[in-house]
Amino acid sequence: MSEFSVKFRGVRGSFPTAGRDFAKYGGNTSCVELNIGERTIILDAGTGIIKSGDDLTEKYICSAQKPEKRIPIQTLILISHIHQDHILGLTFFKPLHISSSNIKIMGAGKELGNDLNDLIFGKTFPLDLGDIACTLQIGNLGEFGEFSINKKWEIEPYQHDKKLKKDDILISYYKSYVHPQQGVMIYKITYQNKSVVYATDKECYLGGDKKFVEFCKNCDLLIHDSQYTTEDYLNPISPKQGFGHSTFDMAIEIMKQSNAKKLAFFHYDPSYNDDKLDKISEYYNADYKNIIFSHENLEIEI
Ligand SMILES: [Zn+2]
Ligand SMILES: [Zn+2]
Repeated sequence: MSEFSVKFRGVRGSFPTAGRDFAKYGGNTSCVELNIGERTIILDAGTGIIKSGDDLTEKYICSAQKPEKRIPIQTLILISHIHQDHILGLTFFKPLHISSSNIKIMGAGKELGNDLNDLIFGKTFPLDLGDIACTLQIGNLGEFGEFSINKKWEIEPYQHDKKLKKDDILISYYKSYVHPQQGVMIYKITYQNKSVVYATDKECYLGGDKKFVEFCKNCDLLIHDSQYTTEDYLNPISPKQGFGHSTFDMAIEIMKQSNAKKLAFFHYDPSYNDDKLDKISEYYNADYKNIIFSHENLEIEI
């Protein structure tokens, strides 16, 4: 694997699915791991984050026999929004419960810490968020901005006139209000002139979303919400417009307009089993060489 790679940990939208009909693409909800050298950035904390945490914990344990000699886990988790399918795995992310871990969680909203405590800790989990073992920092992101992370995991605000150091990772973000009820954060992670855009739970406009297209311009990998086929989106009995999700065709339109080098479909409707996704994939793969149907454990070099 190269120094910059992406690993899909959960690609399912809305709620987890189980059973043999979902074994190929996987049933865990949104989570994508970015591995940049020794640094790991995790996008969303759906149920897919649990396996990511297990692997990080195994690596930590194997790093030395004596606990005091082990290399502590350091991770940044970026939350797109606090809908259940994007936070449900967080409490079972093992590194949170290891005292030497250093974890930063960032996301939209003025009170992300309080929201997480109310929704998945406290009354619904044996621990309050304040009682977990690791060193935890929770940051609230504004409407848009950029920050960089250096090799020592130090975070600094970024201005466009500032020159990045070779090892710096740049995180760019803005909040889109096309997803009910409080919008969704779109992220772009850039490292040594290569970039990945993470756009889940994002409905697009007919003809494309100009601001979004500009944000994705020339990215190396666009991970884009593809919850529905166009047929299902327009289904007269149960139309999906306004639900805050895109179709495969909408994602392709953004790829074309933004000149993204690769597109990964993501956040599949929970009713779409392997058979259905295979059929959709046959249809699109006939026309496009640079599209990927993401599935659990798929790794892509950037
Ligand atoms: Zn979702
Ligand atoms: Zn959502």
